[in-house]
Amino acid sequence: MAKSFDNRDGWIWQDGEFINWNEAKTHIITQGLHYGSAVFEGERSYNGNIFKSDQHTKRLFKSAEIIGIKIPFSESEINQSKFDLIKKMNFKECYVRPIVWRGSSQMGLSTNNSNIHVAIAVWDDWASYFKIEDRIAGLRLITSPWKRPAPDTAPYEAKASGPYIICTLSKEYAEKKGYHDALMLDYRGYIAEGTGANIFFVKDKDIHTPIPDCFLNGITRQTVIEMVKKQGFNLIEKYIKPDEITNYDEAFLTGTAAEITPIQSIDDVKFKTGHNCITYKFMQDYSELVNTVS
Ligand code: PMP
Repeated sequence: MAKSFDNRDGWIWQDGEFINWNEAKTHIITQGLHYGSAVFEGERSYNGNIFKSDQHTKRLFKSAEIIGIKIPFSESEINQSKFDLIKKMNFKECYVRPIVWRGSSQMGLSTNNSNIHVAIAVWDDWASYFKIEDRIAGLRLITSPWKRPAPDTAPYEAKASGPYIICTLSKEYAEKKGYHDALMLDYRGYIAEGTGANIFFVKDKDIHTPIPDCFLNGITRQTVIEMVKKQGFNLIEKYIKPDEITNYDEAFLTGTAAEITPIQSIDDVKFKTGHNCITYKFMQDYSELVNTVS
């Protein structure tokens, strides 16, 4: 049984100070909890160094701005606090979770007098988001009945807690049916992404990925695009219909938690996996990159 997150040793940074992990509690009557009024980040430290820390902090501030929250700290204070916390926790490899939420000063949907909290937690037991044996064999995905909404229905560029219910519903749907993850289509019926990761397809030297115009343009996605272009692959961002995926040889997910994870099937469409695949090479290249670049 995995360790519960509400009973651990260590520290959490909250609102400018370090507090004991077990004392990092928030009141039940909290606006962020009731209405999903929160934004967060997911980052990874490799060898004591958070990969693209500044970029994640920038996205946190942008997400907050999009949902109307002004973070009461500077970007450099957040960057420094992440670093200090990892050091205090004595971690080298860990997952990093900053979160900003509307507090308890008022309830209801009005945000006029909301107070804002900021916290950072780190943990080292997400060595892999998916089980390592599943990553090697490749994931089995099923198409979710839940769709990524239109840009004027939910703010897709914000990593905001509220809209994550779509991902939770999709993940639950997939797991109940015995799959590892779900493929989400968008409101137009194009392929969008996994429940917590972006998606790529491979056909010879062509790498195709959906246009991020209604889902998060992941930092890993951007890193992988740059990496494969440098290696001479043709990277094409395009709208992809579900019935086109039979044309592809390989498929994989990208995300901070998922890193690069091969996909063995989507519904009844099968893809190549294993050590001779391009995806396998990309996994190794990505691992090298995150361990050398900050
Ligand atoms: N889409 C969703 C829904 C996600 O939760 C994530 C993970 N943050 C991603 C894509 C990938 O983003 P990133 O590469 O920045 O982690």
